[in-house]
Amino acid sequence: MNIYNMTFPALEAYFSERGENKAKAKIIYNALYKKRTSDFELSPRVTEMLQHDFTFESIKIIEKSSCPNAVKLLFGLHDNNAIEAVLMRHDYGNALCISTQVGCNMSCAFCQSGQRDAAPKTARGAGNKIRDLFAYEMVLQLLEAEKNLGEKISRVTLMGIGEPLDNLENVMDFINIIGHPHGLDIAPRHITISTCGLPKLDELSEISCNLAISLHAPNDEIRSRIMPVNSAYSIEKIIAFSRTRKKKTTLEYIMLSGVNDSDDCAHELADLVRGINCYVNLIPYNETSLSFARSSAERIKSFYSILIQSGIRAVVRKEFGGELKAACGQLRAERNKT
Ligand code: SAH
Repeated sequence: MNIYNMTFPALEAYFSERGENKAKAKIIYNALYKKRTSDFELSPRVTEMLQHDFTFESIKIIEKSSCPNAVKLLFGLHDNNAIEAVLMRHDYGNALCISTQVGCNMSCAFCQSGQRDAAPKTARGAGNKIRDLFAYEMVLQLLEAEKNLGEKISRVTLMGIGEPLDNLENVMDFINIIGHPHGLDIAPRHITISTCGLPKLDELSEISCNLAISLHAPNDEIRSRIMPVNSAYSIEKIIAFSRTRKKKTTLEYIMLSGVNDSDDCAHELADLVRGINCYVNLIPYNETSLSFARSSAERIKSFYSILIQSGIRAVVRKEFGGELKAACGQLRAERNKT
């Protein structure tokens, strides 16, 4: 077991079960997450026990490119798979967009991550997901990014490669690990889970993290065409979920030229979400090798205006790293082409 996979209570239980003082968990967390060292300064006996029971290896940055407000990082994992993370510099602090899986099984038509060519030829199976990430591989995207860039990361978005709800147990461990006050202490309100909506979403109505749901269409007909997951969790379910939730939900809406960006779609979307505690995040599409085009700036403006005039809270997402091919799965797909 990798030491960075251990939640605080699991570490306490580990020590208790071995007749050790569980307060050692605090020493470990303090070293790993505050001092950033795996030298715990514990007795040789405990050190030996930990070295026997845990691994300490990290994940490696294998490619990095930057533009003024974003840095993309490609990580190599122990099994030679690659995942990506993107640092975004906002005025209110740095946010890291991390991956939750190697590949993705959701097969959204416009997304590079779910495409078969996104996986190396040798690893192609029935789905496009190669495997789930362990919690430690998510934690280490954060630690390695901070170390490499020498910058503090105060927010985390789970919007990289993968579907977080298809790897929920590890994602929840990750959130517990980075949220612990003796560790990185990243509060739930600074963490955003982005999901295309799976039935498991219904279990998360009380979660204190921010939730962003990839809606991307004003009706089932369009959504089913671009998101096969709609057959498992339809628009009606997304709306019902957002309605029952006390916290505000973000509804993500990619602007795809000629697909979902007409004025009629904007009116339909406004009618759909009226009265819900949400805001609509309009996302300019990052063009990929797939046959979708980004809506023009004028189209986005018109769509946005209709929402605002209809009393819907909406924003157009500020773009980060478009020139870095930083949209979900683009980096990894480039690497696997070779
Ligand atoms: N599977 C999750 C999280 C990963 S994708 C989800 O579906 O929400 C994060 C967001 O990026 C989603 O809204 C996804 O639809 C969007 N996305 C994927 N490819 C994109 C692209 N090329 N340009 C802009 N956004 C994209």
